Amino acid sequence: MAYITGSVKGTQDTLPAESFKIQYIESAMRETAENFGYREMRTPVFEHTELFQRGVGETTDVVQKEMYTFEDKGGRSVTLRPEGTAGAVRAFLEHGLFNEALPEKIYYLTSCYRYEKPQAGRLREFHQFGIECFGAGTPAADAEVISLAHEIFNYLGIKNLSLEINSIGCPECRKEYHRALKEYFEGYKEELCQTCNSRLERNPMRILDCKSPVCSKIAEGAPVILDYLCEDCRAHFEGVKKLLDAMEIEYSVNSRIVRGLDYYTRTVFEFVSSEIGAQGTVCGGGRYDGLIEEMGGSPLPACGFALGLERLLLLMEKQQSEFPEPKKCDLYIASMGENALCRAAALAKELRSEGLCVQFDTVGRSLKAQMKYADKIGALYTVALGDDEIESGNITLKNMNSKSRHEMSLSDFADNFQSIIIKDAMSDFESLGLDDIDLQSILGGAE
Ligand code: ATP
Ligand code: MG
Repeated sequence: MAYITGSVKGTQDTLPAESFKIQYIESAMRETAENFGYREMRTPVFEHTELFQRGVGETTDVVQKEMYTFEDKGGRSVTLRPEGTAGAVRAFLEHGLFNEALPEKIYYLTSCYRYEKPQAGRLREFHQFGIECFGAGTPAADAEVISLAHEIFNYLGIKNLSLEINSIGCPECRKEYHRALKEYFEGYKEELCQTCNSRLERNPMRILDCKSPVCSKIAEGAPVILDYLCEDCRAHFEGVKKLLDAMEIEYSVNSRIVRGLDYYTRTVFEFVSSEIGAQGTVCGGGRYDGLIEEMGGSPLPACGFALGLERLLLLMEKQQSEFPEPKKCDLYIASMGENALCRAAALAKELRSEGLCVQFDTVGRSLKAQMKYADKIGALYTVALGDDEIESGNITLKNMNSKSRHEMSLSDFADNFQSIIIKDAMSDFESLGLDDIDLQSILGGAE
């Protein structure tokens, strides 16, 4: 068959059979963020282009090469968000949230768009979970932000992720460092890649972050920012490390981690995996005390991180992480004839309102084909309704796993069904030799 078109390069579908995994990841993120006092913020998928030019930075790869920018029918230049922070800062300022009790702690779960070369862990449409802590300038905020990401990985049972931290100082102590860096890299001008040559003038710190093997080799011998930190920045970094130690969060200091923009300050960090290839950075963040002012607000310290959902899922699949089973069909009501179908629909409505997953035939299949379908979708119980059952008022409930049957009356079926689920589950547990039973987990969504 010829379809109209395939998906756009660099985009990906999440199919129904897989979506429970990403839903689980998202719920772990929401729950963890909310335990830390963060609340969700949702912003539009597109913004004025200049917001990202200022908010992400003119000299970054994102702004220079990766943005999906277009003119709308009203002649405005708009851009699909390449990241979440700029929009969050705009909304924070536009709605005067700086007047509320600070810090304002927000999280987001959104799609992002970057025109990049698609490969494993690198897409053109991808998803980020991110947090922003606006209005907190002490090392405790940095450490709390880091510990939130750490807690999410913990919750999801991720192994072998290393936390790498660094401090890139403030614009003051960076001046001297930039001078030293420029002097060092000038000596390798001929060998540096073209992009790094252009970084030399405006943004020499970004050279430390270049992925070309030649540039990264040269960068190994470059001066280290930590040797140039001013007293305040040094104390801040020590404070962050002390708090991470207190929380027993392991880290290593990596002076190669940078965010080469003036409004990024002090702490920067990444959570890195060596198990998913070149795109190993799952989460990146840091402090950006100059950003809110850069975007037109009064100076206010801030920090946060962004975590890529696709990379995280890739890692979890690689590690064969466990995902809770998606909800199954609790009951399939097979029916023959119009009366039985009406009864099935009414019964389904009643049980669904109690939180159970119930399905009945909407295709017009034969009874046999309905049973086959129930088996295929993994229904836990089935019941067949026909004229005979309606007339006699008696039905047979079948447990599809144990194949056991329960004869019962149709009129009080809805009342008895849940207790049968519990009884069956208990006898399953007993046969497994388990006696400490959590009824809530047996019932799943049902109350
Ligand atoms: P990279 O160095 O891999 O390009 P980045 O520095 O551009 O990453 P950030 O802007 O810090 O990434 O974004 C935070 C997180 O978002 C990354 O650590 C990653 O998990 C995810 N991410 C970034 N770009 C992509 C992409 N194109 N496809 C999938 N995930 C991405
Ligand atoms: Mg990138």
